[in-house]
Amino acid sequence: MRQRRIVLALLIPTLIPFIGVGACTRPAEPAGEVAKAGVTPAKEHEPKAETKAEVHTEVEVPSSPANTDPFPIQTEQFADVRILRYRVPGFEELPLQQKELVYYLYQAALSGRDIIYDQNHRHNLAVRRTLEALLRSDAVDKSDPQWAKLVDFTKRVWFSNGIHHHYSTKKFLPAFSAEYFAKVVTAVPAKMLPLADGETPEQLVAKLTPVLFDPQVDAKRVNLDAKADLIATSATNYYGPDVTQADVEQFYAKRVDNADPTPVSWGLNSQLVKTPSGLVERVWKVDGMYGESIREIVRWLEKAVPVAENDKQKTALERLIAYYRTGELAAFDDYSIAWVADTDSRVDVVNGFIEVYGDPLGYRGAYEAVVSIRDLEASKRIAAISNEAQWFEDHSPIPDIYKKPSVQGISAKVITVVVESGDAAPPTPIGINLPNANWIRTQHGSKSVNLGNIVHAHEASRTSSGVLEEFAASAEEIARSKSWGGLSDLLHTDMHEVIGHASGQLKHGVSGEALKNYASTLEEARADLVALYYIVDPKLVEIGVMKDLEVGREAYDDYIRNALLVQLARLELGDDLEEAHMRNRHMIAAWAFEHGKADRVIERLDREGKTYFVVRDYAKLRELFGRLLNEVQRIKSEGDFEAGRKLVEDYGVRVDRELHAQIKQRYTALGIAPYAGFIQPRLVPVLEGETITDVVIEYPDDFTEQMLEYAETYSFLPTYN
Ligand SMILES: [Zn+2]
Repeated sequence: MRQRRIVLALLIPTLIPFIGVGACTRPAEPAGEVAKAGVTPAKEHEPKAETKAEVHTEVEVPSSPANTDPFPIQTEQFADVRILRYRVPGFEELPLQQKELVYYLYQAALSGRDIIYDQNHRHNLAVRRTLEALLRSDAVDKSDPQWAKLVDFTKRVWFSNGIHHHYSTKKFLPAFSAEYFAKVVTAVPAKMLPLADGETPEQLVAKLTPVLFDPQVDAKRVNLDAKADLIATSATNYYGPDVTQADVEQFYAKRVDNADPTPVSWGLNSQLVKTPSGLVERVWKVDGMYGESIREIVRWLEKAVPVAENDKQKTALERLIAYYRTGELAAFDDYSIAWVADTDSRVDVVNGFIEVYGDPLGYRGAYEAVVSIRDLEASKRIAAISNEAQWFEDHSPIPDIYKKPSVQGISAKVITVVVESGDAAPPTPIGINLPNANWIRTQHGSKSVNLGNIVHAHEASRTSSGVLEEFAASAEEIARSKSWGGLSDLLHTDMHEVIGHASGQLKHGVSGEALKNYASTLEEARADLVALYYIVDPKLVEIGVMKDLEVGREAYDDYIRNALLVQLARLELGDDLEEAHMRNRHMIAAWAFEHGKADRVIERLDREGKTYFVVRDYAKLRELFGRLLNEVQRIKSEGDFEAGRKLVEDYGVRVDRELHAQIKQRYTALGIAPYAGFIQPRLVPVLEGETITDVVIEYPDDFTEQMLEYAETYSFLPTYN
């Protein structure tokens, strides 16, 4: 199965330059789990060609330190997660019609929230509603030391949309006792509890006790261990009781036609259950399963249609409504085709049953919604660089014969998220590459975007997490990073994508596959080196994307510090570097360190058992990056496998074991939770009678309050479906 969702970064320092579209789109995630991100470069919505004059005057560049921003990003940390917030720059400036559109799509997104709980496990809504009743009730003794543990557990359930860990999918157990649970549940007024007809609070407790406390019951949501029956051993609610893997395989073997060039996504929008007359799909649609939520989604989507920005967007929304009404899989494909065709709109939405990771057999889609607006600042910045792609190519230190006579900048797309729901929240992807149907991607294209404001929030959280203070060698370096780190990361990523991967050409007759298993590392190194070479170039000031070359110097500090120190924190002790981006960074930095030793370009400091790397000569470091870029381009252009192999093996694979242990220890001491998720902004319409005259955006800062508010406002499903 190809993974198209780019997973949220887990260890903060790994977020440093990584985003992008196309072949290098990369998730940042915990050591040992390498997911493949979608690799089809997006062809759609290239930023319109703008004249240079427009670009120069309109690109907004921070001229003062970025970290004077009073917006607190992280609000709390519990278990293994951090709760963060993000802002939505550009929302206030939207025309009223687009604000209204966003508001309806926001309501549609949240209206489906209950669905993901029920999809994840059949008891999740009962568990969640019981816990929420306890939190709301005054009848519970909150001075009991077990109360804090119950609150903590409730937050974990909200974070994971159920009782299984959002990432590992293993069930997590309460730290409070079953006796305490029984005591508090029976203490609250029965009318607050999610009781079935005739059910008593005691019976509810008896039903939920093994679900919550018995580690053997429904231990894993998605079991991928092929030694067992994947369906029977997975706790997901995508399949009814007693359905086996063989049942599912036979059911779809009869339906899937491998010769069909435009196959529907079988099983995407239904639960498969056993009935006396055989297996039946319970379809998720307006008058089907989850109909109570889907009717609300449709109600809001219908309001969105008349305020659509253009006909293409209107068509896409109408087709989405048709799909939710009929439940026809072909209608979903029609919608997806209309969605990829809608490339001009400022506002965009993903709403549906999309990713199939929650189904061990990969048929059924989790409900998710992401409402976004295009990031115009990023688009302008990228266009400013892209417009000069030929200048960058012409002035590159690579051999002239391997320069492209006519180079086209590759355009990365960046969106600004307004709200996420279902499977996309609170933990969020950082990039989206849809649709998933391969034939639609091939015939109609796809959209691949980075979630810019989400990435920014992570970056801001990184600078406040203590990692910088721990691994930077001086107060000056820390100050420079706090002033310019955000912008330097954005520019590095932009240049890596837009001019890095786009640069250079192969010698005639050389195959793109010549570098074999070293190809990705060397390709990422090439793109990074283009970015590093130019990020200290006055040309960037001239084209208006930065105001001060300090930005570039910060990028150098950061690159070396991350490559040789911080990124190693995510590697297990005793392991070598394997992932291509981690290898390429280490290769570049270790090569530059060694080749600049005589001139003290980068200095290693060991102070009180702590190691630091300090850039002493930025101009010489740039020369070194240029030299290495020249060599890496030559290796690629000539397909020199042996030289490529040696470069990667000598500088990009092995880590100093002693230094590695030291870094792990320093990182662990910071106590940073590995996972992060978000509190969503709140949209509030300003009404005159029935008419919306404005939509105000608010930024709540209490995770518990938001979860209780959502439960109150968007609880459309019955407890059991
Ligand atoms: Zn790349």
